[in-house]
Amino acid sequence: MATQKRQAKYVYSFGAGRAGGKAEMKNLLGGKGANLAEMCRLGIPVPSGFTISTRCCTEYFSRGLKYPAGLRAQVQKALRRVEREMGMTFGDARNPLLVSCRSGARMSMPGMMETVLNIGLCSRTIPGLIARTGKERFVYDAYRRLITMYADVVMEKAEGIDPAEGEGIRARLEKILAARKKEKNCELDTDLTAEDLKALCEQYKQEVRQTLGRPFPDDPMAQLWGGIGAVFKSWNGRRAVAYRNIEGIPHEWGTATNVQAMVFGNMGDASATGVAFTRNPATGEAKFYGEWLVNAQGEDVVAGIRTPSPLNEATKSEQNKHLVSLEKAMPDLYRELDAIREKLERHYRDMQDIEFTIQEGTLYLLQTRVGKRTGTAALNMAMDMLKEKLINEKTAVQRLKPAQLDELLHPIVDPAAEKNATRVADGLPAGPGGASGQIVFTAAAAVQWAGQGKTVILVREETNPEDVEGMRAATGILTARGGMTSHAALVARGWGKCCIVGAGGIHVNAAARTMTAGGRTYGEGDVLTLNGTKGIVYDGAVDMIDATENPRFRKFMKLVDKYRKLGVRANADTPEDARTARGFGAEGIGLFRTEHMFYGKGSERPLFLLRKMILSETEEERRAALDELFPFVKRDIRATLEAMAGYPVTIRLLDPPLHEFVPQSDEARRDLAEALGITAERVRARGEQLHENNPMMGHRGVRLGVTYPEVTEMQVRAILEAAAELNRAGKKCKPEIMIPVTCDARELRDQKALCRRVHDEVCKKSKVRKVEHLFGTMIEIPRACLLADRMAEEAQFFSFGTNDLTQMGFGFSRDDIGGFLGDYLDRNILDADPFQTIDQDGIGQLVEMAVRKGRAKRKDLKVGICGEQGGDPASVAFCYRAKLNYVSCSAFRVPIARLAAAQASLAG
Ligand code: ADP
Ligand code: MG
Ligand code: MG
Repeated sequence: MATQKRQAKYVYSFGAGRAGGKAEMKNLLGGKGANLAEMCRLGIPVPSGFTISTRCCTEYFSRGLKYPAGLRAQVQKALRRVEREMGMTFGDARNPLLVSCRSGARMSMPGMMETVLNIGLCSRTIPGLIARTGKERFVYDAYRRLITMYADVVMEKAEGIDPAEGEGIRARLEKILAARKKEKNCELDTDLTAEDLKALCEQYKQEVRQTLGRPFPDDPMAQLWGGIGAVFKSWNGRRAVAYRNIEGIPHEWGTATNVQAMVFGNMGDASATGVAFTRNPATGEAKFYGEWLVNAQGEDVVAGIRTPSPLNEATKSEQNKHLVSLEKAMPDLYRELDAIREKLERHYRDMQDIEFTIQEGTLYLLQTRVGKRTGTAALNMAMDMLKEKLINEKTAVQRLKPAQLDELLHPIVDPAAEKNATRVADGLPAGPGGASGQIVFTAAAAVQWAGQGKTVILVREETNPEDVEGMRAATGILTARGGMTSHAALVARGWGKCCIVGAGGIHVNAAARTMTAGGRTYGEGDVLTLNGTKGIVYDGAVDMIDATENPRFRKFMKLVDKYRKLGVRANADTPEDARTARGFGAEGIGLFRTEHMFYGKGSERPLFLLRKMILSETEEERRAALDELFPFVKRDIRATLEAMAGYPVTIRLLDPPLHEFVPQSDEARRDLAEALGITAERVRARGEQLHENNPMMGHRGVRLGVTYPEVTEMQVRAILEAAAELNRAGKKCKPEIMIPVTCDARELRDQKALCRRVHDEVCKKSKVRKVEHLFGTMIEIPRACLLADRMAEEAQFFSFGTNDLTQMGFGFSRDDIGGFLGDYLDRNILDADPFQTIDQDGIGQLVEMAVRKGRAKRKDLKVGICGEQGGDPASVAFCYRAKLNYVSCSAFRVPIARLAAAQASLAG
């Protein structure tokens, strides 16, 4: 029996209060398409249109840039519907419909892909549109915009043409425009007459033909399909790809294309366009916040070409207070817009970022999406919306990305130092916080300098999405033009970057790599300081301070802990670190490295004694040296246990190979020999004896304890005596003795016997029955995972040392991975650096197996992780699912891990 194959549906219409799509369909329709459909359903005025699905985009790519069968017919049909709803006909000579072709992916990628407006204008339709609107100037303004966008997006970028900076077709056309304005002595685009624009369009078409070797198409249908294809192709445009790499967005998602009837903000002084946020995206303040331009098309605001006017009186700033707000200029429309703001917030229960256009007194919404925001704004909005009962506690906890907390703990410009600093310019506070660094004038220089470890501030004339990588690399961003809602400001905010835009007082000469401000000229490498919270630029480096204790932050973290089940500890090596960790809310120390006391401040004496121990040739000598070392070790451990006030402290016994402590220079060897009363020759010989070909896998960790039991003994004694003393003083403490680099249960049995003996001796000496402690091991060798059941017979706890486990599991040296990691990431052999985020597929299996086997033998086996990955949100979520008891990470990442852990339990 013949089955009739049903054609896949690629096209979803919206308009006139109805829609085939809805907000939940983002994966298929992209965020823009899904939300346009949703707004239609909510009865919000949206120009009719249709969305071609992301699925069509992926098929278009997999078929070698061919559209799937049936698409053309579906598009035709949907276009007829738009025509009916709008009462205009696409390509018609008397009553022509114009449309836009807009990109829109599953996740918002502001400004990273392309949009073409005013499609459908050609020699056949221009006279009709002029006759119907009676606005010749408007029609030619729309036409010159179409030619510019189409040539740039469809004829150049989508064709893969990659001209040098300033040589692209858009730049060439803009040069022609600038020349015309100069000739006509006008400052603004809006000062050009219909005649000017008409002549300009002819010049544009000539330039397009000359530069690109093809004419600008004079056929609406050809324009439409050119636009659709170019939007799809913009998914793989350079900046879109770079942005996805930074944001970790999968390359296979694809974008949707939205074809939508045009409405015009450039029809005269009763027309306008704007961008707004339902709350302030920089501070979180619950005030309608936005920017608008009279007689303009949408892209004028977001591209930062003119400094736009404020939306309302309440949010005017120093920079734009002289401009007329929409609230004053068009009060009725402002009220209508404000009502839509409320409706959207109540519906989406989150801050929305919206685009609107007013065509001769009629308001239309063109986009809504969840707005990007700074960490500060995210925190304030979450707590406000909780209070307003717009969201519940669980949602509030999910409203901050763990990485955004980092930003909340970041430095700000010291207000005291700021008083004496030299102010060189003012701009709009687009991304808060402080930044101080050397200025550079190109994105490439920012990337290069940052790569050399320098702190840079990227200075640009205007915000430009082409600069993503440079913006990413920079500590701060400063631009002479553009508004708060420009794409670059959006992106910077999304990353929590300090950013000032529209600093009109600076003049950038990118070619000469200089800028002038406050009467001074600055060159590449000169230092400036930005106060992104206030929008002030200072000369030189101004001091920074830590963001002050924010009571809202504390309240939020309390909520976080309410929903968190996974424990969070810190890796800390000194009593000071331990106190810091407590301040950040650590519930213990997951890794205390004893060797730390041999490095840095105050380490001379213990290091000398350690070296003495290492150079010993007999057990007797070694014991004598260890006896001298003992009080130092005990003092450090006691102070750390005390700082952790009853929370557990996992103390790892000496881990590195001994030769690391043998002095390397002749001079240091001589000094040591003298102090020890032996010959320098003996010091050298002993060092040579300790030499290993592969020390990472050599005589280290538990292996030291096996060959030199007295080394383990001394450490265990220090731990238990310190604990006994604290106990006697009525102070609680929970030491956990951790044996590193184990691969067999018999190693543990051997060391455990030693521990027992020392424990009994300590009890006797301290006259107590027992000293509370745990005995466990670090799991960092794959064999230990395989034999975890046997290991658990001896160990009361496991702590995954995922740095070494990753190193040995992959066979990647963690010190040498830099040589090839880049290639592995670029070529998609690895998804991420496994030393940063745990490799859940492979190493993760070792972890899960070890947990399962270990707990099968010992039900109450405590399990944690102490590798670098313990502070990485994705790894924290993995640890929660793998049923670990806690994660441990560096003190400064503790709040991030706490939030990631809470979000993991809320995700179920
Ligand atoms: P982006 O994702 O870069 O913001 P958009 O597709 O949103 O690109 O479009 C760019 C600008 O053009 C926006 O300001 C938008 O509001 C405006 N725009 C898009 N389509 C239309 C339309 N049909 N009518 C009027 N303005 C439009
Ligand atoms: Mg947009
Ligand atoms: Mg290790």
